[in-house]
Amino acid sequence: MLLNYKIIYSARKTIALEINQEGLTIRAPQRTPKEVIHNLIKEKESWIDKKLKNWESKKLQNNNLYQNTTNQIWLKGSQFNLRTDSNVNDYLIQDNNKTILFNNNFFEFDRLYEKELSTYIRPKIILFSQKLQVEVNTIRIKKLKSRWGSCSSKKNLNFNLSLIKTPTFIIDYVIAHEVSHLKEMNHSPAFWEVVESIYPKYKEAKIWLKKNGRYWIN
Ligand SMILES: [Zn+2]
Repeated sequence: MLLNYKIIYSARKTIALEINQEGLTIRAPQRTPKEVIHNLIKEKESWIDKKLKNWESKKLQNNNLYQNTTNQIWLKGSQFNLRTDSNVNDYLIQDNNKTILFNNNFFEFDRLYEKELSTYIRPKIILFSQKLQVEVNTIRIKKLKSRWGSCSSKKNLNFNLSLIKTPTFIIDYVIAHEVSHLKEMNHSPAFWEVVESIYPKYKEAKIWLKKNGRYWIN
């Protein structure tokens, strides 16, 4: 007999069994007697068992995956150790000991990258665009294969998801570069003057990207 399950009572008419990574959840109408639920579990025992075992093996596979391939990730130029922690809500970045705690075996690291990059770039884009008195339409973060960012004639800015892995002086440069295109849609000397006006250290960043960029882009 199964011991661990969760019952959620609500204004519904039928009982439903749900199995996911957290185990068995029973959704039942208000005031359903425990006995009715117990009988149902007993009746469906082999089905429940099979489903739970499926999830268990998926969890195991996933854990192995993390152990083998993603014990560490890069964020803003620093390496962080990864650790699962069921007490954490979604994920928690501990800058002091360079650790990321995350909940759930099915955690999506791309989501973390996107959230962190978005949080980092938005205020900088506002700052640079105010300095240049240009307007930005939409900001998108995408998986891009060969570029760190782009700017369209419709004033849309795109940034590579992997940018969040690189040091902040690189992220800042890419933001400055793309925002500058809102003023100069080319790579003329006039464009580089605009870049320099909002990001004086741009040459350093360009050298870094030329040397290291391709190792970081994916
Ligand atoms: Zn450019």
